[in-house]
Amino acid sequence: MSLQERDKKHLWHPLTQHKSHPNHIAITSAKGAVLYDENGNEYIDGIASWYTCVYGHSNPYIIDKVYAQMQRLDHVVFTGFTHKPAVELSEKLIEILPENQEKLFFSDNGSTAIDVAIKMALQFHFNNGEHRGKIIALENGFHGDTFGAMSVSGLSVYNGPFEDFFIDVARIPVPNAENLEEVKELFTKLITEHKVAAFVYEPLVQGAAAMQIHKAEHINEILKIAEKHNVVTIADEIMTGFGKTGKNFASEFIETKPDIICLSKALSAGMVPMAITSCSQKIYNAFYADEIKKGFFHGHTYSGNPVACSAAIAGIELLCSEEIQASLQRIEVSHKKFDQEIKKHPKVAATRQQGQIFALDLNIEMERYGNLRDQLFNSFMSKGVCLRPLGNTIYILAPYVTSDAQLEQIYQAIRETLDTL
Ligand SMILES: *Cc1c(COP(=O)(O)O)cnc(C)c1O
Repeated sequence: MSLQERDKKHLWHPLTQHKSHPNHIAITSAKGAVLYDENGNEYIDGIASWYTCVYGHSNPYIIDKVYAQMQRLDHVVFTGFTHKPAVELSEKLIEILPENQEKLFFSDNGSTAIDVAIKMALQFHFNNGEHRGKIIALENGFHGDTFGAMSVSGLSVYNGPFEDFFIDVARIPVPNAENLEEVKELFTKLITEHKVAAFVYEPLVQGAAAMQIHKAEHINEILKIAEKHNVVTIADEIMTGFGKTGKNFASEFIETKPDIICLSKALSAGMVPMAITSCSQKIYNAFYADEIKKGFFHGHTYSGNPVACSAAIAGIELLCSEEIQASLQRIEVSHKKFDQEIKKHPKVAATRQQGQIFALDLNIEMERYGNLRDQLFNSFMSKGVCLRPLGNTIYILAPYVTSDAQLEQIYQAIRETLDTL
């Protein structure tokens, strides 16, 4: 029996209605930018497996580091104990994070990194003797699927059964040139009329909202107001972190630095799950006290797992290497050229690019998980390219090791698919 058939017996896949989507393509191996399935087909991983495997699948440099670490120290409790991979990772990561970031707190995935950030923000005010309970988030933001993360996410199509149990969140539109004054007013009004603890946002690119791009100068205006009112700012860089946007972190483009940054996905290079919530000294200081209860009593069993830390260290070393930096340049330029061409296509309504992220909107109406989405996905896969359209948006966020020939194969799959619509 094929893996695809055996899968159906006991497995329940994420974000899936199994009745309409019973089949899952069985991937047996992956190398560099390519996925291989059980029937011998190859697919270029045009979305780096949800933005994780950015240095290429099964990268030998990362494997060597991880294997060596596995033999030395697999895991140890991170309360009362520490270890070299965590210490080294903290030094390397703080060096590349925005300059106000000082402390790192570990968890296991993007959603928990957000929950940690929300709890940090709430307790920051609590420890300072203030009861602030409201969080402000951007419309159409996505921050994950745990309760805290889901509450701040604005893409609520599937949140129906849970909405009554959310934490207290208010939403503001993404600021742009047209609405900036209005959004500033609304934000200020929310802050003055309610006890607002934090503002959470995806800097520059809202990933799940179909790679919507906003301007650094506009979000900066909101951050300045937050800073003035001691509202903790939380940058969700889970998707944008580690080179996606043209710099190591999207927050580098924005003048006002966030108090807290959430990291996951490419953090551990797709090798093993890990997340980090980093914060400034100001946040940390509110927890540093003689009273034990002022500490942050949140902890995941696998916090600071040495193997995950070693994958993250190897990933940062690759990110900072000349090869990857040159490759980032090459891919950004390549996307720019493709953009110039494809935006003239009669089926294309708009295109946008931020660093490694390229997106185009089709001028065809469709539902987020409607039939056209399946048609597009199947068309790309039949051409050996894995792309997962979001609504009527097709986007590319390929591994940084994708070759020019492989990029061309992605572009060609898009061209040919658009011509069939
Ligand atoms: C993926 C993602 C998350 C959630 O991360 P998980 O690891 O899936 O829980 C949160 N925010 C953003 C911007 C993401 O892209």
